[in-house]
Amino acid sequence: METAFNIRRRIEQVRKEIPEHVEILGAAKTRSMEDVRAAYEAGLKYFGHNYVQEAQAMIPGLEIDAKWHLIGHLQRNKARFAVELFDMVESLDSMRLARELEKRCSELEKKMPVLIEVNSGREENKTGIMPEEGVLLAEWLSGQKYLHLAGLMTMGPLTGDPEFARPFYKETRRLFEEIERQKFPNTDMKVLSMGMSNSYKVAVEEGANLVRLGTLIFGPRET
Ligand SMILES: *Cc1c(COP(=O)(O)O)cnc(C)c1O
Repeated sequence: METAFNIRRRIEQVRKEIPEHVEILGAAKTRSMEDVRAAYEAGLKYFGHNYVQEAQAMIPGLEIDAKWHLIGHLQRNKARFAVELFDMVESLDSMRLARELEKRCSELEKKMPVLIEVNSGREENKTGIMPEEGVLLAEWLSGQKYLHLAGLMTMGPLTGDPEFARPFYKETRRLFEEIERQKFPNTDMKVLSMGMSNSYKVAVEEGANLVRLGTLIFGPRET
């Protein structure tokens, strides 16, 4: 487990390296409640979980005034719990999931901001919407009562070299601007979530205003 001191030191370090308008989301998968509390006390306001089950075991018990984002693939049979737990779904990766989320949100009468997850590398085995399909999904979302589009998220192909990710971030930014230009109703394009521990600097250069950091602030994952 990481000491609170190390977590605070790392967050302060990253904060110095990125512009003020860029928010940091702590990717909390496999982390302890103590680690997340330490990051919150060091100033982080956004946290992400990949799995509903892990989130259920952490969010209600932690009682901190943070915003919780779902950042992992959501199975449709867990959509109801996701709607209850999260403040934003960043990983909206299919039309079918969008329909299911709209239905669950309407049952709970809860509005939910979502980001379209873009498969910017057009990888067959990856989740996410192909860039060509982004505008269509954005248009569909603009007609819904409970979901509303707040921006885009992408992972990009995972490699060691952050420069390799740059064209995929550029492509996601292009789609972001294209959707903005449509001026769809019920749409507020404000979040561009790109970049992880090894690639956040490149992502910020390409327009990210939310970076999702795990290893860099919490240390290496044990699993
Ligand atoms: C784990 C994870 C991150 C953070 O990864 P690190 O390399 O540990 O910073 C960001 N986004 C998603 C979707 C993740 O699953």
